[in-house]
Amino acid sequence: MIRSVDVVIVGASLAAAAAAKRLVDAGLETIILEKQKLPRHKICSGILSPRGERFLIENFGALPNKILHEPNTCRGVSFHFPSMLSLSMDFFGGPTPHLHRKYADHWAIKQSHSEVMDETSFLSLSQDDDNVLVTARKKGGDSFQIKTRYVIGADGPVSPVLRSLYPSYHKDIPMFFVGQKFHEIIDCPLDEAYFHFWFHPDLGHYTWSHARDGRQIVGVGYKVGEKFHDRHRYVAKYFEEKHGVYLKPADTDHEGCSENFGPSLINRYVFGKGRVLITGQASGFLNMIGEGMSCALHSGAIAGESIVDAMLRNKAVQEVYRKKIASEVRRTTDQWNPLKIAFSKPHEADFPKALMALPAKDRLILLRDVWHFVKLYKEFKWGRQIAALSMQRLLRGDYAQKKWL
Ligand SMILES: Cc1cc2nc3c(=O)[nH]c(=O)nc-3n(C[C@H](O)[C@H](O)[C@H](O)COP(=O)(O)OP(=O)(O)OC[C@H]3O[C@@H](n4cnc5c(N)ncnc54)[C@H](O)[C@@H]3O)c2cc1C
Repeated sequence: MIRSVDVVIVGASLAAAAAAKRLVDAGLETIILEKQKLPRHKICSGILSPRGERFLIENFGALPNKILHEPNTCRGVSFHFPSMLSLSMDFFGGPTPHLHRKYADHWAIKQSHSEVMDETSFLSLSQDDDNVLVTARKKGGDSFQIKTRYVIGADGPVSPVLRSLYPSYHKDIPMFFVGQKFHEIIDCPLDEAYFHFWFHPDLGHYTWSHARDGRQIVGVGYKVGEKFHDRHRYVAKYFEEKHGVYLKPADTDHEGCSENFGPSLINRYVFGKGRVLITGQASGFLNMIGEGMSCALHSGAIAGESIVDAMLRNKAVQEVYRKKIASEVRRTTDQWNPLKIAFSKPHEADFPKALMALPAKDRLILLRDVWHFVKLYKEFKWGRQIAALSMQRLLRGDYAQKKWL
């Protein structure tokens, strides 16, 4: 017999935990399907924004120590430029916890009190006006079906749920590879209280480093198609020559994954179809420097609330979700909006203050460095779209919904 539930959530991550919390609190029978065994590994620096920290505490309670990496807090971010200028910014409100995603996500999922089926992969779905039929498979077992009123795809950047709705979506957007290697430290002058990011076009689209559990991470990100080990070697050599970072050869546990960086810059989010909602990074939410946890948590909660509202008021769930999610779209896309960056404070660390603390000559050098870095993204033709969106936000106070899928 096919089991029938109110909601199936795909992916046991932070967006899922937030959605499940709202649904379970409203008394809805909810199942989370996770393809990996829990607690599962998640590639992530674990740097949480103040907004993300507040969400976790308010919804799931005080954070236990066992869900943190060493150093167990982060003060903010430090930007480095080709001119060798560096700029450190503290998070508003003080240091935030340095999350160990394997345990943090599992803790949040448990705190949601939802039923979870791990080692169970979502395979496909079909929907009609009243229900969705989900096909999944338990590891080593046969496929089975669940009938549900709604589905939430909280299944990350390569979202199989999104793919089941829009099969060619991921071929139509630029996908990036991000990879990190872990090194024993010989000597590292980079302040371990900060997450370090390089605005350097020669190093790649996304270059970062930080301390974790006694080792130093060297991370590289670039358009899919280049060679991870070559890029990593180049960056590690640059760190040594320019910043005096002396590291032992990388340990064997390096890792990487695909990222859908881009949709939040150009307001190309995907929120689903019919009774299927897409949320978290799957829908395109990613804040500046790749901070995705806070928007995953908030968008996940909004997806859950939208289902509760749609059921209570007998409304079409897409209509409710799209109305409610506009606030999170504003927050995230504002982070990439040059007018907002210049005249408001869309980020959670004070970039304008750090910039103004530099001598005027250095400010100009730094802005020139940023401009050279931004040109790296020219091939994606995002510049004009970002400029048009900035004007749209200024004139109508919002970003248009017609570009959302
Ligand atoms: C190298 C790197 C560093 C990062 N550093 C930071 C950082 O410091 N701070 C920050 O805020 N963000 C960071 N991010 C981004 C952040 O990790 C993501 O934005 C965030 O995890 C998105 O959460 P999510 O809930 O949307 O989904 P995800 O965390 O991506 O989780 C999706 C879940 O879905 C599951 N799943 C996928 N397919 C299926 C299937 N077929 N069936 C069942 N389950 C499935 C996956 O196993 C996974 O558990 C980083 C990302 C990378 C790659």
